[in-house]
Amino acid sequence: MKPLEELTRKNIWNLAPYSSARNEYAGREARVFLDANENPYNTPYNRYPDPLQLDLKDVLSKVKGVPAENIFLGNGSDEPIDLVYRCFCNPKMDNVVAIEPTYGMYKVCADINDVEYRPVLLDDHFQMTAERLLAATDEKTKLIWLCSPNNPTGNTIVREEIANVINRFEGIVIVDEAYSDFSSQKPFRQEILKHPNLIVLNTMSKAWGCAAIRLGMAFASKDIIGLFNKVKYPYNVNLLTQQQALEALKDPFEVDKWVKILLEERSRMMAAFKDLPICEKVYPTEANFFLAQMTDAPRIYNYLVDKGIIVRNRHRVQLCQNCLRITIGTKTENGELIAALRQYI
Ligand SMILES: *Cc1c(COP(=O)(O)O)cnc(C)c1O
Repeated sequence: MKPLEELTRKNIWNLAPYSSARNEYAGREARVFLDANENPYNTPYNRYPDPLQLDLKDVLSKVKGVPAENIFLGNGSDEPIDLVYRCFCNPKMDNVVAIEPTYGMYKVCADINDVEYRPVLLDDHFQMTAERLLAATDEKTKLIWLCSPNNPTGNTIVREEIANVINRFEGIVIVDEAYSDFSSQKPFRQEILKHPNLIVLNTMSKAWGCAAIRLGMAFASKDIIGLFNKVKYPYNVNLLTQQQALEALKDPFEVDKWVKILLEERSRMMAAFKDLPICEKVYPTEANFFLAQMTDAPRIYNYLVDKGIIVRNRHRVQLCQNCLRITIGTKTENGELIAALRQYI
């Protein structure tokens, strides 16, 4: 890896961050808070929340097996996705490499930040090799984006190839593990201490059932977390979100139960799809969704919309012609989808 200072934008490396009222007194015992121009009434919502969410990070540290100082929390994983560009990529100069197809936000954030985005097409099994990704890089490549299990394909990327990218690339590698709770593959988040160029993303939006509270996380070296903390909005995770996340984290076994049911339902749904005359192929998956190639995805999609059932039409995505992406719902919801598709003519 190149030295972090060399990979970081000069203005960000030299940035003197905003110092909020709650940063400044940090640590010492205090009883009277007359420092932040808050209204003293209407507790607890009158006070600014902890800018570094330390209580929440302590709990997450235990659940995720990552030290608290190696955790960044944001407004969904979308926040760290954007922060990576803002910290490392000089607009109009630097570029990033990513697998294709994958999660759309990596490209949207590249476009917003005016950074060249270089997609590298996956093969017919939705796999990649480190060799091909590295061949797309040059001296201006700051980031490589990987997602495993990948969205919208559902499969995990061969672990050894991801490890090769991390070991061989001189810049930053981001591995988005939004769906790792559904996968049997060993997650990469516990490798961050061994690899200073690795950032792993997780979210509360999928297996944890908390998409509404907007809480995403990045695991990385202390130095990278420090950069994110400098650039983020001072109070980027609000109090209600921090409280609700602590509530959800009290019961990790609930998540295990949900995952187990969803995986059973996934098998049932994939088998049912394989039996549909309008389904050509069901792709292997390790996420809470699967990709199905249909005879005519746009028409089937519209037929389902008319029945009030919404799936994701991925027909226009490269390598996903005529594919629908099906999220696993409750047994009842899944049953409705299958019943509707059996009636399709
Ligand atoms: C759903 C998803 C996310 C989650 O984003 P949030 O902003 O945390 O809700 C991140 N990455 C991928 C690949 C996803 O599919």
